[in-house]
Amino acid sequence: MLNLVLFGPPGAGKGTQSHKLIEKYGLIHLSTGDLLRGEISQGTELGLEAKKLMDEGVLVPDAVVIGMISNKLDANKDAKGFIFDGFPRTVAQAIALDELLESKSSTISGMIALEVDDMELERRLLLRGKDSGRPDDANPEVIRKRIKEYNDKTAPVAEFYKNQNKFTSVNGIGSKDEIFDSIETVAEAL
Ligand code: AMP
Repeated sequence: MLNLVLFGPPGAGKGTQSHKLIEKYGLIHLSTGDLLRGEISQGTELGLEAKKLMDEGVLVPDAVVIGMISNKLDANKDAKGFIFDGFPRTVAQAIALDELLESKSSTISGMIALEVDDMELERRLLLRGKDSGRPDDANPEVIRKRIKEYNDKTAPVAEFYKNQNKFTSVNGIGSKDEIFDSIETVAEAL
């Protein structure tokens, strides 16, 4: 199985590059942000709870996203592999993911991190907010909160994979195809 964690701050291009990876390798895309937005649009209780936090730009509780990922792994037993996009976002989530995969005799093949500076992220997110319809993209204060959450809680997840020798970073600035070429080079070597 090829199990990739696509890592990086909000606005780094994880969603775009995930779609290109899926086309190329036939993997299942697991984006916790998309799954949460799905819950919101279905009006579930989980969605209602998560929406408050997402609109403020803060992370939802670990147990919520771990539960969603566990369900998706169970629902896709014959998958060739997965792309984890926006998950794990805390060290506790990374530990839980290792345990979930181990229980299925699988493991993370590697983490690929997209490097983009904070000013470029803010610019991209505000631009995306014009037509994404995402409330958390439209407000500069919420965007800065999301970047702060990333720096405080998510950035340490890179260390977790560095310690397992599974971490590679690529330049997240350039054309979509240039960035994909860099990602592909890393993925081919895994
Ligand atoms: P994203 O679409 O990945 O930018 O996620 C949008 C929002 O959903 C984040 O700002 C968080 O509030 C929430 N979220 C998504 N994934 C996670 C996660 N793995 N852990 C906690 N919160 C998450």
